Amino acid sequence: MSPTELSHSAETTLVSQSTGSDWLARYSSSLMGVFGTPQRVLVRGAGALVWDADGKEYLDLLGGIAVNALGHAHPFVTSVIASQLATLGHVSNFFTSPTQIALAEKLLAITKAPAGSKVFFANSGTEANEAAFKLARRNSEAPAGAKSAKRTKIIALEGAFHGRTMGALALTAKEAYRAPFEPLPGGVVHIPFGDIEALRAAVDETTAAVFLEPIQGEAGVRPLSVEYLRAAREATTAAGALLILDEVQTGIGRTGKWLAIEDAGIVPDAVTLAKGLGGGFPVGALITFGGPTSSLLTAGQHGTTFGGNPVATAAALATLHAIESQGVLANVLAVGARLRAGLSDVDAVTEVRGEGLLIGFDVDADIAPAMVTAALDAGFIINSPGPRTIRLAPPLILTPEQADSFLDALPGIIKAAAAVNAKDAQ
Ligand SMILES: *Cc1c(COP(=O)(O)O)cnc(C)c1O
Repeated sequence: MSPTELSHSAETTLVSQSTGSDWLARYSSSLMGVFGTPQRVLVRGAGALVWDADGKEYLDLLGGIAVNALGHAHPFVTSVIASQLATLGHVSNFFTSPTQIALAEKLLAITKAPAGSKVFFANSGTEANEAAFKLARRNSEAPAGAKSAKRTKIIALEGAFHGRTMGALALTAKEAYRAPFEPLPGGVVHIPFGDIEALRAAVDETTAAVFLEPIQGEAGVRPLSVEYLRAAREATTAAGALLILDEVQTGIGRTGKWLAIEDAGIVPDAVTLAKGLGGGFPVGALITFGGPTSSLLTAGQHGTTFGGNPVATAAALATLHAIESQGVLANVLAVGARLRAGLSDVDAVTEVRGEGLLIGFDVDADIAPAMVTAALDAGFIINSPGPRTIRLAPPLILTPEQADSFLDALPGIIKAAAAVNAKDAQ
């Protein structure tokens, strides 16, 4: 059989047509149960819309958790990925490729990284943070006369989420995620969120690094203040510790800026990126700022087989180009402001947080999980990181009309969720 014949027959035999409930029965007997039962079986997407196996349409206000920056099946990103794959798909890191180099240069340019800054490519957010964790371990030399010979302390925040692999999990605060896998890599302490005094008290000459998310996404979209970020920069500089910012969720236009910290007036030592970077294609990056930090990891000390491969880096280059050339950042600011204003006008909504199109809002009862279900029924994909908290992280190309359609539906979704909760309580 020729490759062409193979592709024609594979299209019809690899995946048969089935209903959502048939697929879910097969899912539960073939996939590991770590994610619980999926909400829907999705088969197709276009822009901010997706369709499930039963043909129902949804407005995707979660964007694959802040991943589908340009929505689904973006024509430019799709064609760049396809043509790169048809040209050169993988080479290993014994070699490099033009898209890898061009993407590294582009990331250094958009993050305004100073001379000597460098990039390491990974495949996911947790892998980018693993690389950052190893970078922090290499910042081990204590100052002369210090009471400890080595820096071993790494500081992260209560509520932090940095990923699920062992190093990133050690940085993650949530007990339910951590406890089953202890012992985790040591030396990590978690300090209260947003408490500048606690931070100043914790950072000392034994501190290798401080890890911060400018806005904690998984914790319900909780922003750190500019004052906090500046205090973190001052304290880490004074102690010789690295300031490492996890912008896996907040980076690449999510807040209407390339980086969430863009206006804070600080230069971090390192930033991690993933989620939106590849426009839906898996890719992560660690950017180290300045020469000294960039030379902490030396030849042979870290590596990856897939990281920085031609297809992933082409996908990211295409995503960045589309964001830049199509006015996407301005759209994020405008539609984000419109959504937040509309949400603030809804009676049951008690607080609205976030920047750009990373939005969290609280409701006045424990109905957020029921709202997710009611929203699906009404044709909207949303997420509840807490019992009273909803998170929205839609494609950055969401239109004002699409945002309004959700705002119009929201009172009904809240009412339906409250009714379900009242019935369950009986
Ligand atoms: C999602 C996320 C991660 C983990 O990324 P994965 O690609 O799921 O490994 C790390 N940090 C933050 C802030 C995230 O939002």
